Amino acid sequence: MTGPYAIVTGGSRGIGAACCRLLAAKGLDIAFSYRGDDAAAAALTRQIEAAGRQALAVKADMATEDGVVQLFTAADDRFGAPPTHVIVNAGITGKIRRVADMSATEIQAVTDLNVVGALLTAREAIRRMSTERGGPGGGIVLVSSAAAWLGSPNEFVHYAASKGAVSTMTLGLAKEVAREGIRVNAVAPGLIDTDIHASAGAPDRVDRLQSLVPLGRGGTAEEVAEAILWLLSAESSYVTGTILPVSGGR
Ligand code: NAP
Repeated sequence: MTGPYAIVTGGSRGIGAACCRLLAAKGLDIAFSYRGDDAAAAALTRQIEAAGRQALAVKADMATEDGVVQLFTAADDRFGAPPTHVIVNAGITGKIRRVADMSATEIQAVTDLNVVGALLTAREAIRRMSTERGGPGGGIVLVSSAAAWLGSPNEFVHYAASKGAVSTMTLGLAKEVAREGIRVNAVAPGLIDTDIHASAGAPDRVDRLQSLVPLGRGGTAEEVAEAILWLLSAESSYVTGTILPVSGGR
């Protein structure tokens, strides 16, 4: 890996935390955001520092423009340079419900973070990384979901729709900045064993659904992080606008 540092949104737990640990092990300093879990952010900070890298934990809401700008500005101040690797990871599913039972507030919250927040994060990244704006170029990876093609009926159709938007913005962003030194790709994880299922109200969801996965099990956050690492690395230098399923064949 080359470049001064990586930014990871929603980095304190789950897939984001696995990315932070892996990128730090590859020699990058890390700035990451989180929403509320100070203890998880502090633990991750210690792990990154134990790997010999700098860690900047920023408590900021990625569903808001102020929060996204706060993360990038804090990173500007700490590292004195633009990031070269950005992982747009922060996301929520909302509670499991049929659409007929959802409130407008629940639908809005998922859309604000997963769609608006992702676009704003990409905007801040491009403003700093674009070679046309004097930046160093680099890589952006968005975290979409297999839900984008499964549709998630009876669980979280609003979430699936938001991840469809993430996949589509990946295609458009990749073409928009291809001549500005930035590659934009996405991963689409399937059933991954993190706290997100408990937050949705179904802590046993991976155990319950893993028989539907062709590989016969849920995936780990580390397996998703490895795919993201490849998309950010020089080894994928001719890959942009790609949505890479990490879903055990589902
Ligand atoms: P997770 O275990 O629930 O972790 C979510 C992380 O995002 C936490 O660090 C959390 O911080 C942070 N976060 C949540 N809302 C935020 C906000 N508004 N602003 C800033 N940070 C926020 O989730 P995960 O399973 O790792 O999911 C990560 C991404 O992968 C999401 O985009 C998700 O949709 C996607 N994904 C997951 C799966 C899966 O099966 N796990 C499958 C497909 C796609 P706090 O701890 O402080 O709240």
